[in-house]
Amino acid sequence: MEETDLREWIAVHGKSLFDRGYTSGGSGNISVKLDDGMLVTPTRSCLGRLDPDRIAKLDPEGNHLTGDPPSTEAVLHMGVYRARPEDRAVVHLHSPYAVALSCLKGLDPEDLLPPLMAYFVMSIGRLPLVAFHPPGSRRLAAAVEEKCGSHRAVLMAHHGTVVAGKDLVDAVYAAEELEETARVFFLVKGGDYRTLGPEQIAELRKRYASG
Ligand code: ZN
Repeated sequence: MEETDLREWIAVHGKSLFDRGYTSGGSGNISVKLDDGMLVTPTRSCLGRLDPDRIAKLDPEGNHLTGDPPSTEAVLHMGVYRARPEDRAVVHLHSPYAVALSCLKGLDPEDLLPPLMAYFVMSIGRLPLVAFHPPGSRRLAAAVEEKCGSHRAVLMAHHGTVVAGKDLVDAVYAAEELEETARVFFLVKGGDYRTLGPEQIAELRKRYASG
């Protein structure tokens, strides 16, 4: 896909996520890796009203080349790409059910969500928690980078989700799936709910791995 089309695509998906309440105000950011750097949404920009031409472009070292100044969370995206060289897009959202999950006590920080939904199991699997560090800090970026080597999605405590994908649509869909699974978890939590069993999970993972 050409860079111009990718810029349009970021704005289309940003608006779609914003309009459905997956992130609000100036929160959340989206990036796409290019052969010569990265496109990332600008600092303080609203995902619902992105101007494709003003999306920031950075070189591979993270220097700002064109567009508006990049999100202060661009360091987070760069860390994910370092940990996951095959992935080409990262979506970071302050989606409310996932953030609520990040504040809940008594969960396994290596595996926050039970296997409730088939698509979550196939596309994400285990969701780990990253301990709190201030948004935009190098400490947070380093903690996310460390977890992302073995997980395509992480949840940052008191903050939000970071999801990587092989392309933008893949990352957006998985970010939505994650938020929806967190929402379903809150719906069934407190009740006597069933989860998928080990054999069902193994079959789902095999199906996903074979495309
Ligand atoms: Zn954030």
